[in-house]
Amino acid sequence: MKFTSTLVAAAGLLASPALAAPYAQLQTRNTTSSSSTVEQPVLNVTYTSPVNSSLPNVVIFATGGTIAGSSASNTDTTKYTAGVVGIEALVQAVPNILNVTNVVGSQVANTGSVNINSTIILRMAKLANGILCAENSTTDGLVITHGTDTLEETAFFMDMTVNCKSPVVVVGAMRPSTAISADGPANLLEAVTVAVSPAARNRGAMIVLNDRIGQATYTSKTNANSLDTFQAIEQGYIGGFLSNKPFFYYPASQPTFKNKFDVTNITELPQVDVLISYQNFDAALIPAAVKAGAKGIVIGGTGAGSTTDVAQPYIEAALAAGIPIVLSSKTNGGAVPPSGSGAISSGFLNPVKSRLQLQLALATGMGMEEIRGLFEDKLAGYLEA
Ligand code: ASP
Repeated sequence: MKFTSTLVAAAGLLASPALAAPYAQLQTRNTTSSSSTVEQPVLNVTYTSPVNSSLPNVVIFATGGTIAGSSASNTDTTKYTAGVVGIEALVQAVPNILNVTNVVGSQVANTGSVNINSTIILRMAKLANGILCAENSTTDGLVITHGTDTLEETAFFMDMTVNCKSPVVVVGAMRPSTAISADGPANLLEAVTVAVSPAARNRGAMIVLNDRIGQATYTSKTNANSLDTFQAIEQGYIGGFLSNKPFFYYPASQPTFKNKFDVTNITELPQVDVLISYQNFDAALIPAAVKAGAKGIVIGGTGAGSTTDVAQPYIEAALAAGIPIVLSSKTNGGAVPPSGSGAISSGFLNPVKSRLQLQLALATGMGMEEIRGLFEDKLAGYLEA
């Protein structure tokens, strides 16, 4: 049976013609979970490679970014337009991909990653569960092509929400497709190669750029310009590539500080805003954010969650009104240790990752103390041992 029809049957999804515009329809149908009455999204297949039955199968969600960016100048690495090149051209630029795997692609969006939003990541998580985690799935792995600016957010979200052993690999590029030494083609080839590698199973979502494999919960963008921008400073890479062959430093394992969520019944993610603390921060932005619709707030504290004395009454008032406040660190490194009361401590999650976990906690109906436990209990277990 052809991959496309097998994929569609396995996931219970309907293939449909190419989207007229990025972000277009969220076609829905009750498919992913029989116990759910919430309509699940349908995959819009916009590209299928020729099928070779001896090869594994990968699905690519293309979202845009620099990897799909284009510029009139081949030396321009800052003023190009992100999200221009479509999935078919991306795959065709690297013919070696079709020696490694069959490909079914969906152009989920085509934009710079600053415009990737809660609706898009929730949709991708639901599609990923339907495609990868169905009992009779014929898809070996999922690749998401993505702008690097918010790549760590999408990757972390997928890590928390795709609930099976199949790999999810999020890939981008720092140089547009038109640049001399564009990094996108090699990154994409490595991403699909690791996505179909048996050694990549049961490692959650991974980030692949620059010949390195990072685990999504711990990996972040650390440099605005350089090719080696994605790093897990404390935890390190989990693997890499030599001559396009993936290797791993350790057997498959999951991050200690990762929490899992079932998105089947989530229809939208609540607004959670991030504020950064600094000298003179008076946190009047907290009530302003709540007034603008925030159901939770993350503060990127100046050190281990620290913020000004003047901010304390605003934090206490928000907590008293039932708005969870999570204190993280704008240093993007280290941990905010558990406090046990008052504002919630982020542990090792940086501000943007804390935001996503808080969104999922609120969306699944957790109350204040349950959310505190989610953020604080694992690290508290180590500190109190
Ligand atoms: N601005 C681009 C984006 O995030 C940057 C990149 O992809 O590297 O889409």
